Amino acid sequence: MTRLALHKPGFAIPDRVLRLSEHAITKQIRALRQSLGEQVVLLAHHYQRPEIVALADYRGDSLELSRIAAQEHQAKHIVFCGVRFMAESAAILCQLRRLVMHPDFAAGCPLADMASLGRVEQAWGELAEVCDPSSVMPVTYINSTADIKAFCGQRGGCICTSSNAKAVLSWALEHRAKVFFFPDQHLGRNTANALGIQAKQQILWDPRQPLGGNTKTQIARAKVILWKGHCHVHTFFTPDHVEQARRIHPGCRIVVHPECTEEVVKSADANGSTGFIVRYAQDAPPGSCIVIGTEINLIARLAREHPDKRIYELARSLCPNMYKINLYNLYWTMCELGKVNVITVTDDIKKDARIALARMLEIA
Ligand code: SF4
Repeated sequence: MTRLALHKPGFAIPDRVLRLSEHAITKQIRALRQSLGEQVVLLAHHYQRPEIVALADYRGDSLELSRIAAQEHQAKHIVFCGVRFMAESAAILCQLRRLVMHPDFAAGCPLADMASLGRVEQAWGELAEVCDPSSVMPVTYINSTADIKAFCGQRGGCICTSSNAKAVLSWALEHRAKVFFFPDQHLGRNTANALGIQAKQQILWDPRQPLGGNTKTQIARAKVILWKGHCHVHTFFTPDHVEQARRIHPGCRIVVHPECTEEVVKSADANGSTGFIVRYAQDAPPGSCIVIGTEINLIARLAREHPDKRIYELARSLCPNMYKINLYNLYWTMCELGKVNVITVTDDIKKDARIALARMLEIA
């Protein structure tokens, strides 16, 4: 059970707000934004709806937004337009007396929720029966709950994002014989592959099975233990999509996110974090044809922002949770700044999670 404390979700958006047109509410948000001045900063993840990104002070991927939240000295209020674990990370990292607001508490991340603290603690206990836990480095992808981040921090472990997973995994293996990687098996596997770790040294841990479904010998031999979690948005892509894209767009370059399956990553021309994909599109010469395997809102925006290039989606895959943030819950959060949709993380979780996050920022 999570020890994370969330309070006062602002679900009850008044009817007078819900009746406003998108045009009217956008105008009101802009006016409010101006009157609040430096009291507030608006952060938006790349997968947000275009109308939200257009209003943001900063947009970025998880790592970029974590850094901005950590360095924000002016604004007392940080409004985070993304999914819950991102707003929690901002609340963990931000300076004292800053408040982080998340316009819709229901905007969670199913991948993050695949590794609950109870299951992870149970797995850790089982692992301790087979090998010395001090030889295992817990590493969690930033797409995880605050208490899993704290779990890693308490045990000398670290957090990673898709931008720095390779650096973090290398660091972890320099310090301990094994890594237990939560919760995204695909990012873990693709990163281990990129580091040249053999398939037989990577095992999958299914929390529903004793010893994660592995034998003691397999565990003893493993260098990387991958938690059985996945992102449904990125595992939607298949090698058939890649083959089809190459047929329809001869000469195209295909770039995908490392949360995609190993087969998709291997069949693409490049893979990397959201930030990497943005730079890939920006840096491509005019006239290039790029097919991208990631969340559709980002791809659509890249296509609009680079009309001199042909940018297409590998297939249409939308993150329904990112989509839950809209003009109405953003406006209401800004009207009731500091009173609704405030994310709070208990001090003990914050302290331990901060250790793991700070370690990541150092390594990255
Ligand atoms: S795209 Fe996947 S990992 Fe990212 S927030 Fe949505 S479900 Fe979670």
